[in-house]
Amino acid sequence: MSVAEDQIAQEPRIVTEIPGPKSRELHARRQAVVPPGVHSVVPVYVERAHGSVLVDVDGNQIVDVCGGIGVTTIGHTDDAVVAAAAAQLGKVTHTLFTMTPYEPYVQVAEHLARNVPGSTAERPYKTLLMNSGAEAVENGVKIARRYTRRPGVAVLEHAYHGRTALTSSMNHKGAPYAQGYGPRVGDIYKAPNSYPLRDGLSGPEAAKRTIAYLEKMAGAEDLACLVVEPVQGEGGFIVPADGYLPALAEWCRANGIVFIADEVQAGMARTGTVFSIEQFGVEPDIVLSAKGIAGGLPLAGITGRAEIMDASLPGGLGGTFGGNPVSCAAAVAVFDQIERDGLLARAKHIEEVFGDGLRGLAAKHSAIAEVRGKGAMLAIEIVKPGTLEHDPELTQRVIDFAVQRGILLLSAGIYGNVIRFLPSLQFTDELCATVVRVLDEAFEATTA
Ligand SMILES: *Cc1c(COP(=O)(O)O)cnc(C)c1O
Repeated sequence: MSVAEDQIAQEPRIVTEIPGPKSRELHARRQAVVPPGVHSVVPVYVERAHGSVLVDVDGNQIVDVCGGIGVTTIGHTDDAVVAAAAAQLGKVTHTLFTMTPYEPYVQVAEHLARNVPGSTAERPYKTLLMNSGAEAVENGVKIARRYTRRPGVAVLEHAYHGRTALTSSMNHKGAPYAQGYGPRVGDIYKAPNSYPLRDGLSGPEAAKRTIAYLEKMAGAEDLACLVVEPVQGEGGFIVPADGYLPALAEWCRANGIVFIADEVQAGMARTGTVFSIEQFGVEPDIVLSAKGIAGGLPLAGITGRAEIMDASLPGGLGGTFGGNPVSCAAAVAVFDQIERDGLLARAKHIEEVFGDGLRGLAAKHSAIAEVRGKGAMLAIEIVKPGTLEHDPELTQRVIDFAVQRGILLLSAGIYGNVIRFLPSLQFTDELCATVVRVLDEAFEATTA
């Protein structure tokens, strides 16, 4: 147990109203100098954190079931990550890899080559490192276009890929991500996805619909790539029906389209395998990672088949901060724990324990239409009882109730009627039970 863990008990403890007086004071200062477009869902100012608990400036302890949207997968201020980053800080913090390189970048690429499905020791996948998820998507598309010499980009409904000009045009939701920021980028085709709760289609049926749409609207020969989140994140943790992703991958292969798995949210041990696509039996041409890869530091990977990655000319790929040495050292510490410390089994354990708790709630509260997800990436979809009508108001009331009890939850879904859970893999059974109990109280109080 670290000093920090010793100081931050892994439990909620509320000592002021939420947000407390110091948070409100900071929020007033912030509003004068930070634009409202940079919205904070819960304006509680965090001073420190460890494991699964945040401590705010007023001394409240809040259980973090979001992990900064799936970033602190191995827990906040993980001892090994902090030690590795601190050691690297004292050695070298920047040279620019495309100027004079360093080992940690190569180590991260080696870890990714070992863990991406499809990559083998004889023919390892190669990696470009950048800083953010959106940059990973930008570069994945760029590399696929260079390799295929085709312009078109296929994405799925309910997708989320980022907030840059290209990626905000790829998102399903125009408002608030692309609205008013036009012109939106062209040659992007948004095909229907597989959404078992709502479309009732089998995987092969849903794939047929997706493919028919793309063949009509884009034409396969114009498509450079299909970008899919194997488990959709912002879209509401939608798990496609069995057989959907393999059918899409097969169609891509037959038509020379690069299959890109956007694992920015679902990857890095979150779902119980290093990359979630593994559980669908697909070997993607390119895998994108970011969020959880460096234990809270900014880093993103674009990992793909060598012939695709090798299609760019020297100097065509990179960026000043891409693959920062401190972030890379932290990522190596994350991979070491994933490969050695049974973190994948932890994700499966959370799926069982927390999933059971959520299914118990669904049996009791008819507003919960479905419990879904994989590993430590779980969600409940909230509807008007007896219908499939979205209920974003109830969703928000439940979330607001929970934060007053020291449980930080986050919504998802195009209509904001999903609560997604992204606990750290250190989340204890006791914390799972606490979250389920508070949710139970929240549904009792808000549906009464
Ligand atoms: C968060 C996210 C992104 C964008 O990542 P940023 O680091 O915020 O740019 C892209 N794809 C998916 C699936 C994401 O969840």
